[in-house]
Amino acid sequence: MTSTYPTNLGIYVGGNWRSGEGRDSHKVINPATGDVLAELPLATAADLDEALEATAKGFAYWRSVDVNERAGILHKVADLIRERAETIAVLLTTEQGKPLAEARTEVLSCAAQFDYFAEEAKRSYGRVLVRPTGQRALVLKQPVGPVAAFSPWNFPVNLMCKKMAAALAAGCSIIAKPPEETPASTSAIMQCVIDGGVPGNVAQLVYGVPDLVSRHLIASPIIRKVSFTGSVPVGKHLLKLAADGVKRTTMELGGHAPVIIFDDCDLDKAIALSATTKFRNAGQVCISPTRFYVQENVYDRFVAGFAERAKQVRVGNGLDADTVMGPLANDRRPSAIEALVDDATAKGAKLLSGGARGNKGYFYQPTVLADVPMSADVMDNEPFGPVALMRPFKTFGEAVEQANRLPFGLAAYAFTENARQANLVVDALDTGMVGLNSFAISMPDAPFGGVKESGFGSEGGPEGLDSYYVTKAVHQY
Ligand code: NAD
Repeated sequence: MTSTYPTNLGIYVGGNWRSGEGRDSHKVINPATGDVLAELPLATAADLDEALEATAKGFAYWRSVDVNERAGILHKVADLIRERAETIAVLLTTEQGKPLAEARTEVLSCAAQFDYFAEEAKRSYGRVLVRPTGQRALVLKQPVGPVAAFSPWNFPVNLMCKKMAAALAAGCSIIAKPPEETPASTSAIMQCVIDGGVPGNVAQLVYGVPDLVSRHLIASPIIRKVSFTGSVPVGKHLLKLAADGVKRTTMELGGHAPVIIFDDCDLDKAIALSATTKFRNAGQVCISPTRFYVQENVYDRFVAGFAERAKQVRVGNGLDADTVMGPLANDRRPSAIEALVDDATAKGAKLLSGGARGNKGYFYQPTVLADVPMSADVMDNEPFGPVALMRPFKTFGEAVEQANRLPFGLAAYAFTENARQANLVVDALDTGMVGLNSFAISMPDAPFGGVKESGFGSEGGPEGLDSYYVTKAVHQY
């Protein structure tokens, strides 16, 4: 497979791709090899000011475009993403590391988001309230205004599109700042947005020093909504910046997902699904199953079966056809995971597989830790990598208490064939999403989001679209 990684990367401001001209740059690295792929130009303060001016104009125009016309353009964007999916997937794997099959799925999920929101926006009806004869009261939904959207490197194209498709469908303009680690795939998606017919002032794309870009954009009165996906500390920081201008926010922050394996589940299915899902995208998934609480009489079988599968995961360059797990996405991750695994084993956790870095690129082996003591840092801190933690439990109450004990509340999972137990555990789990006998919980038509420090607001579904509207109540006498 040939991968022609672009060497002319740029930012897209006011309808033009820009690069060079003395801008600082960031080295884009292939995480499988450590090689430099390209230099990425970073937006200057002047670029950001121009983007802000353009987004104000873009909003004034786009909000007045008929929703059916907007939807037609977004469907064209979806078609172009599907047409170019293979090329974009190769770029995504080259710069992010995930296996090509996962990259293809991610790119196609972007097309699904554009299609979904294009149709859903047509159903943003508002309400008519009952009033005495001759009087009316209406609740109208109107686009909130220009959006600043910050998305991370684990699902670079999917997470950018979740924000962009919903914002554009609702009639907002958007300045997207996807991650600097993976610019070729996000820029290729942006080209689909442009070629599909979204005007240049309406959707823009910048890369930069994240803290400078977010401070600059969020401080501007032009920006009316901030959407962020990433870590809890950065989310809290952006919330504070947004509070100064009383701006709407959607925050998709970290998780540390518990999985409760009850002894009445289909154990073979639970083992197979758990081991496959844990190592998807090398565990760099905010809803990745991580803390496995297994009922004591099936604990040994579950742990042994899971560890056996972990040992068989084929790790390699994501472009190789037989690779099941690629490298981690950037140089920060292997050392962060190494520190957590070393701390756990030093405190008494049993290492059943993995536990080591690769000798080039950013690889870390699929790792299973059993009998992990509660004092281990990794029981409290999201590893965000290919690490599974196992602990036994006796009772339903104990499992739920353990599952809910952290400040995170994004996703949780439970495996049981007992319908009453399933209902009880769904009610008891303190998270925004629950997977029952399944890990498939991210779909365009369903709300995706967390509670507690995992954030607030949702992306996906009508709820995700609603977050790009404000309501206006009109009372007519
Ligand atoms: P980080 O906390 O520095 O950054 C997380 C993301 O936020 C990155 O995409 C980064 O570019 C962006 N970011 C950082 N500072 C920013 C700022 N001031 N303004 C705007 N954007 C900013 O950490 P990292 O090393 O990139 O990732 C490590 C941790 O981040 C992981 O352990 C995980 O907890 C979390 N994370 C979560 C998700 C998610 O899907 N929720 C995705 C990626 C990373």
